[in-house]
Amino acid sequence: MTQTITVIRGDGIGPEIMDATLFVLDKLGAGLSYEFADAGLAALEKHGELIPASTLESIKKNKVALKSPLTTPVGGGFSSINVALRRQFDLYANVRPAISFPNTRARYENIDLITVRENTEGAYLSEGQEVSADGETAFSGTRITRKGSERIVRYAFELARSTGRKKVTAVHKANIIKSTSGLFLNVAREVAANYPDIEFQEMIVDNTCMQLVMRPEQFDVIVTTNLFGDIISDLCAGLVGGLGLAPGANIGEEAAIFEAVHGTAPDIAGKGIANPGALLLGAAQMLDHLGQVENAARLRKAIVATMEAKDALTGDLGGTGGTMDFARAIASRL
Ligand code: ATP
Repeated sequence: MTQTITVIRGDGIGPEIMDATLFVLDKLGAGLSYEFADAGLAALEKHGELIPASTLESIKKNKVALKSPLTTPVGGGFSSINVALRRQFDLYANVRPAISFPNTRARYENIDLITVRENTEGAYLSEGQEVSADGETAFSGTRITRKGSERIVRYAFELARSTGRKKVTAVHKANIIKSTSGLFLNVAREVAANYPDIEFQEMIVDNTCMQLVMRPEQFDVIVTTNLFGDIISDLCAGLVGGLGLAPGANIGEEAAIFEAVHGTAPDIAGKGIANPGALLLGAAQMLDHLGQVENAARLRKAIVATMEAKDALTGDLGGTGGTMDFARAIASRL
């Protein structure tokens, strides 16, 4: 059966890395068909708006989108497109895998973990934020709900179960922030009780940062609130060598959007030298989400084998290959 997904080719290096990714997905035989939709600068030029209604309709209909990086124009009152998409579809789970690949300049070789960050509440909503008239005092509220905590922790456990992972670590600061972080931790404990097959661990956020730097291989799935998750997921990307191979997903009940974590890289756009690896790994996450766990594993294995052979690696990975050379090298190993 063919599954239709929405494809947003994006700005800057977006179209190049998307073409390379779709080429590999076609070779994989994942049975996907593509509905192309515009967003970002490309959409502004063509339709006069950053996220046309037709793009939202397409995502709503297909429920799954693969998205290249987008440019939000600076100034002109434009707010972030990514934030707008998260709000529109209530994409509550930000899922960021960090996997070690051979021949990168990473500090570790044995990391395979996923950070699941709550995306819709917590400190980043900055409720009621204000600075006093004299500029001496600032205030910002943090709201945590049972519903928000429950669905993110449940998502983490379901992800662990469906992808054969063994442990979920709930990261918190409930010893100090007893109200908000305390509620998150209590709910995490309740949800964990429903998953006796998955090990549950609690860890305070500062200790987590130290443990991640010293012994990252102990982690499998990390689940946490918005602010901690934002910081930890970037820390984890750094542990495996930076953003070049860092994918991410934003997942809700009604829709899910898969992407590379990096931006549009305008400095190298149009040159055919961008690394498509992060978007390819985003596509692997998408395959997991679609229940194509074996295809996702085949794709990741082909990327690892290509990295191992140092075959047609792009410049950022220390090679001299172009975007499509790297994609073809991966496709040949599927
Ligand atoms: P944006 O404004 O969209 O965030 P940016 O250039 O500020 O773009 P990134 O796109 O994340 O931020 O790029 C940071 C650096 O990493 C740039 O030098 C860019 O060329 C490089 N880079 C980012 N993505 C890739 C990629 N896929 N392949 C090769 N280099 C990349």
